[in-house]
Amino acid sequence: MKAVRLVQPGTPLALFDLPIPALGPDDVLVQVHAAGICHSDVHYRAGRSPVYPLPLTLGHEVAGVVEKTGAQVRRIKPGDRVVLHYLVTCGSCSYCASGNEQFCAQGKMLGHHTDGGFAEYIAVPERNALVLPDEVPFEGGATLMCASATALHALRKGRIRGGDTLAVIGVGGLGLSAVQLGRALGAREVYAVDTHPAKRALAAQYGAVPVDPAEGDPVDQIRRQTGGRGVDVSLELIGLPLTMRQALRSVAPMGRAVVVGLSDQALEIDTYRELLGPEAELIGSNDHLLHELPLLLDYARRGVLDLSQVVSRTIPLEAGAINATLDELEHFSAGVRTVVVPQVG
Ligand SMILES: [Zn+2]
Ligand SMILES: [Zn+2]
Repeated sequence: MKAVRLVQPGTPLALFDLPIPALGPDDVLVQVHAAGICHSDVHYRAGRSPVYPLPLTLGHEVAGVVEKTGAQVRRIKPGDRVVLHYLVTCGSCSYCASGNEQFCAQGKMLGHHTDGGFAEYIAVPERNALVLPDEVPFEGGATLMCASATALHALRKGRIRGGDTLAVIGVGGLGLSAVQLGRALGAREVYAVDTHPAKRALAAQYGAVPVDPAEGDPVDQIRRQTGGRGVDVSLELIGLPLTMRQALRSVAPMGRAVVVGLSDQALEIDTYRELLGPEAELIGSNDHLLHELPLLLDYARRGVLDLSQVVSRTIPLEAGAINATLDELEHFSAGVRTVVVPQVG
């Protein structure tokens, strides 16, 4: 089979001809129909986030059709349309048993620590495969497994409830999902903060109140629009100390500020005024969990989460096309979401 792999960090991905992966008794073999190209893949190729063992097939946002199942597999059948949870874990440690498998010491991420979806076939444990509803196309389903899933986890970490108000700071792929999922989970008002007019307009299309930082401190604007109170939950999706602090400063008393954006810079806060005085909570959120995905798939099936704007381009399973997309993402010139669609036949 064809597979596009990272051989050495800092060099372009390369096309390999590999055997179709062998199946363990609990595994399913999936013929890949769509694999999303994520901004993380840029960091993997560049070596900013180490990929091992090398060479390794990248691609962690995967959808396809089950080709074959191992002897112990019962739930999933050949022919099922599936999407894959990208974290492969032991399934039996205390973290796995309590549904918090992202802390499993043996966790391996598809396309990061174990072969991913830039290939014609991929083998994963049965529990990593979720049936993709017929209403959701493969391309949209694949991208659900990363950004949308992470947005849902962040909202759950913020313990959002019906009637809450929500601020989403940074309206990229994650933020656009967060706006829609926040409303689906009952947020009565969502404020979407972004410096790009097109992103604010898109958020507004999904029912958010756009906030333009060029018109003054977004925290002041959010406070003004909430009668001085602030929001119940805020999400920081950019990864800057400035916006993390804005997330914290924009919450109401007993509000929850959830930090999702990655940064290697320290965050300074006024602990009395911003944290303990208002009994605010500053919450870290990382990745997402397997048990959250059925809800996400159901939102997508019912169109509550609209995927029509998510995927803007498909490319074949070719090293040149994938590298070119990663080059674009490296320079932030791609306002588009690209999905690899191997030729199926
Ligand atoms: Zn991703
Ligand atoms: Zn485990």
